[in-house]
Amino acid sequence: MPRRSTLLCLAFLAACATGGTQPSPGDPGCTWAIALHGGAGTLDRDAPAADLEAYRSALRRVLELGRDRLARGDAAVLVCEAVVRELEDDPLFNAGRGAALNADGGHELDAAIMDGSTMACGAVAGVRTVRHPVELARLVMERTPHVLLMGDGAERFADAMAVERVPNEWFTTERRQRSFEAWRQQQDRDNQRIGPGTVGCVARDRQGRLAAATSTGGLTGKRFGRVGDSPIVGAGTYANATAAVSGTGTGEQFLRHTVARTIAARIELAGDDLAAAAAAVVLRTLDRDDGGVVAVDAAGHAVAVYNSDGMYRGIADSRGRFEVAIFEH
Ligand code: ASP
Repeated sequence: MPRRSTLLCLAFLAACATGGTQPSPGDPGCTWAIALHGGAGTLDRDAPAADLEAYRSALRRVLELGRDRLARGDAAVLVCEAVVRELEDDPLFNAGRGAALNADGGHELDAAIMDGSTMACGAVAGVRTVRHPVELARLVMERTPHVLLMGDGAERFADAMAVERVPNEWFTTERRQRSFEAWRQQQDRDNQRIGPGTVGCVARDRQGRLAAATSTGGLTGKRFGRVGDSPIVGAGTYANATAAVSGTGTGEQFLRHTVARTIAARIELAGDDLAAAAAAVVLRTLDRDDGGVVAVDAAGHAVAVYNSDGMYRGIADSRGRFEVAIFEH
């Protein structure tokens, strides 16, 4: 990206004060932790209270699911898949049913999953008939020697895996159709972040294993064949023994700056703590309004950091922390 003038940089840093970080306190006794997101860029703050509450209640429901499974000892990678799968079925979010429409008025879905304890990972890009792309990503991880399958190849793999299939129109909701019409009418085709809501989850389980999963319909009006950051390991999704990260926002920016891996690398190589690493990348490397991440580390700290007006998100841990939020920091 071109460098901005000093003045613009200062304006950007000042603007970041409206973004947020949510560090959890250092806690050696933390046995499990989970953070999830339902996309950066949200409804307006003055949206009807009932609409905002619908998001909060959806986030609470999946956070409870993740909390209960981690508390009973389930593996982080399976918990991440289960949470993302639920969010894929919720039409409020831009993943699975409710996914954004591309420039041709169809859906191409991307997803990835990564088990930080083994570095095993799997991803699919541009799938059109798979109800739960995160499940297919997990099957790529478990049943193939590959990391990423795309388009027709991913669909053919789905045929062999007997995962649930749906017609492409099944993913369309009235709301996404309206976003698509708005995109079609607008002059400034660079501004594609209409109707965000990518979903993601990161977790540390009771065995100390970290994992991440992300699923998205991508950007409204994206070109046919465009792949964003979500299914690209190291950009929108990453987990190793140090940290697990799931991102949401302008995928091209997350790809350019390999956001998820850079956060883990800052902890490993620069000695940052999780909150500092995530803030360095989201608040200083990315541009204002690019989006945000949720992340956990090996000690069970969990953060949600974003530079947009808000991010649908939730964090819970074994110390009793249980929070969902959209705007407030
Ligand atoms: N990161 C996603 C993409 O670029 C979109 C989003 O998170 O809203 O495909």
